[in-house]
Amino acid sequence: MASLSPVLKQATPVVVDHAFGSWIFGTDGEQYLDFTTGIGVTSTGHCHPKVVAAAREQVGKIIHAQYTTVMHKPLLELTEKLGEVLPAGLDSVFYANSGSEAVEAAIRLARMATGRPNIVVFQGGFHGRTVAAASLTTAGTKFSAGFAPLMAGVHMSAFPHAYRYGMDEASAVAFALRELDYLLKTRTAPEDTAAFLIEPALGDGGYIPTPPAFMDGLRDRADRHGIKLIFDEVQAGVGRTGKFWGHQHSHAAPDIIITAKGIASGFPISAIAASTETMSKAWPGSQGGTYGGNAVSAAAGVATLEVIEEEGLVENARLRGNQMLAGLKEIQTRFPTIGNVRGIGLMAGIEFTAPDGTADAATAGAVQQATVEQRLLTLTCGPEGNVVRLIPALIVTEAEIATGLERFEAAV
Ligand code: PLP
Repeated sequence: MASLSPVLKQATPVVVDHAFGSWIFGTDGEQYLDFTTGIGVTSTGHCHPKVVAAAREQVGKIIHAQYTTVMHKPLLELTEKLGEVLPAGLDSVFYANSGSEAVEAAIRLARMATGRPNIVVFQGGFHGRTVAAASLTTAGTKFSAGFAPLMAGVHMSAFPHAYRYGMDEASAVAFALRELDYLLKTRTAPEDTAAFLIEPALGDGGYIPTPPAFMDGLRDRADRHGIKLIFDEVQAGVGRTGKFWGHQHSHAAPDIIITAKGIASGFPISAIAASTETMSKAWPGSQGGTYGGNAVSAAAGVATLEVIEEEGLVENARLRGNQMLAGLKEIQTRFPTIGNVRGIGLMAGIEFTAPDGTADAATAGAVQQATVEQRLLTLTCGPEGNVVRLIPALIVTEAEIATGLERFEAAV
């Protein structure tokens, strides 16, 4: 007899029977409002009819044709669809299965394109769990403790976390940019630095929107020093922040962009895009994997992008996100244990703090558990585990957000 490994410690006791839209129906007969969406994956909601139909149809045509052997139509179609939303000039796309693999592909590409070894990451960033991706992750020790040595050539710089620093945003940005300039003078010279890697909003690091001025400051330094600017849009991309890409809240454009999660509503696929000039610095054989760019995932990806466009889901994310954030800020006024509420679009983080301002992970954990009793599914995050995060699907309705807020307040 086998059982699931204890590393798969569940945040909720729920076993899903079926799910639709924003709702999960458990084998316990309960109906849960899902503000976890498979950690920001089921962008068009659970089992959107158009995504289901596209996947069903594709399964009957071809499931897998390894893309360096035989190309298939869905990947060509997905590439064309992505071309409509990718930042100008990023016209060459490569596919993998997960965010971590795409992060690794982007790092390999940046090193190959510049001939430089080092990568600068920012405190609180989360980029995945493979050894290389974990080496780039500073969102908590649990992601890399116990399996050192990690990948060499990674340097961490400050993230402009205004609330944590007790600063206003402009001061936090100025401080973090000064720290970066200092790092480039003392620890990794520009001529040794291949890339800056950053999320447009920290995900596992605590749901903290990256200030646009910081993104702009990174672009400026990347241009000055010939460093590749990589935006990890795995969690913040595909409409989640109320713009198609999280970085579009700033003026900065990436040299390399990474997307996964919401791109196919739950089917595993990830992509990186860069200019053809940059992408051609990687040679055939240096990137790829057996399952990358799976045909069924790609078909689901095409359907997902169509649904997002047809149903105006980017705008819905903005509107419902504003509603959620306003509601949470109001709830905050009634609970001194909530130290900070922040978010962007349908990414909201509620940070629990003790009276002396230190992180209160126990309360965040208890609240997350209590939301399940209220039939609302939530997750925690943050390096200290004291943030409850809400990640509704992009199709979430005004009434569902209102219900979610009521249930969340009852849990607190
Ligand atoms: N990058 C970011 C910003 C993420 O949020 C995640 C996953 O949560 C990853 C990378 C890794 O993606 P995956 O879990 O698909 O490997």
